[in-house]
Amino acid sequence: MASSQILITLDTSRSMFRSDYKPSRFNNALDAIKLLVSKVLEKDATNSFALITFNDSIKKMNDFTRSKDEIFNSLDELTLKGSSSLGEALGLSIKVIINELRKISDQIPRILLISDGNATQSAIDPLKMAKLAAQLNIKIDTFRLGESSHLNILKRLSDISKGKYYFSNDKETLKNSARSYYKSSLSDLTSQKDNVIKNPQYLRKIAASLLRVQDLTKDQEQRLKQIRGVANYKKCSICFSEKDPVTKGSFYLTGRFCPNCNSPFHVHCLAGWADSQNESHLKRSGTVRCPHCYYLLKIPSEVTKAKRLKALTTHNRPRGEEKKEFPAYQTSAEELGIEATYSSCPVCNMIFEKTDEIIKCGNPDCGALYHKNCFKELKGNICRSCGFKLILDSEE
Ligand SMILES: [Zn+2]
Ligand SMILES: [Zn+2]
Ligand SMILES: [Zn+2]
Ligand SMILES: [Zn+2]
Repeated sequence: MASSQILITLDTSRSMFRSDYKPSRFNNALDAIKLLVSKVLEKDATNSFALITFNDSIKKMNDFTRSKDEIFNSLDELTLKGSSSLGEALGLSIKVIINELRKISDQIPRILLISDGNATQSAIDPLKMAKLAAQLNIKIDTFRLGESSHLNILKRLSDISKGKYYFSNDKETLKNSARSYYKSSLSDLTSQKDNVIKNPQYLRKIAASLLRVQDLTKDQEQRLKQIRGVANYKKCSICFSEKDPVTKGSFYLTGRFCPNCNSPFHVHCLAGWADSQNESHLKRSGTVRCPHCYYLLKIPSEVTKAKRLKALTTHNRPRGEEKKEFPAYQTSAEELGIEATYSSCPVCNMIFEKTDEIIKCGNPDCGALYHKNCFKELKGNICRSCGFKLILDSEE
């Protein structure tokens, strides 16, 4: 039987103080969560929970854990304040789940949102986050606490993401929600037959982009030098040399790091490693598990096709010499249609919304798509996917 993973996203804003539930909405929410966590972990010790809280700020209290005590300890130290940043909380929840999916992927974790639905403080539209969740097959289940004069946004979040919605208006109905959720969600998860997680397009969507030497933060570089040694941290952990065995170029050109464990490899060595593995669904998706930490990685598009490999070999010259540039184009998800639907941004790793403005890499062998704001974060306008400098048309 597959394990269930539930990420609890809990409202800790001031309105949860309200005493329409005795002694307060919040106390009852804590009781319901503890009941749920106890039951689910009793049923199967390989089930796990994560916890995110939100008020003016959002906080990841626990990453996925099988320990009841860890979750309970976090719950016991919570305090209420401010208003609720619901959109931001869902954004972080989706990120935590994507990170989990990259580590292990046999089930897609669910989000259980517990709130009274006063989403007054959100700069990020919660509905937009629900649509993003829906595209990733992440279900948002909701325990809605108490009557509200606002639009029933919580119900809409669950509807959009095909999650379950429970309304309660007192202690007893909330407990009942927890009980029936525990029964239905577990049977639901274990009977889930559609194996979306092996779908190549899905894998490509959630896989992490590799880091280039210049993408490393100062801290990451420092840590790498400590662990692997100053002389070795740019040596490929597959072929054990600095020079790329295919292009004969330096590590700066075709060397990349795993964003999770920071192991170094040449893109060609990693692609070769991918070919030697026998997981056909990974191969078809152009993704590979890191040989060291098993994190799901995206093989750069320039090495997924022989033609692209050739282009890279002929264009790459040692650092310092003149490099070829390509234009970049402003476009939108709406204009690109299906192309945008099945891509993700190499900077934030998120997929695109219909309303997003997009910058497209003009290298015909690459065509990477970036969110307009993410594109601004590229160092020296170098495309993260193909490594060529991009000139944005409006900058001329
Ligand atoms: Zn190598
Ligand atoms: Zn790794
Ligand atoms: Zn982005
Ligand atoms: Zn590119």
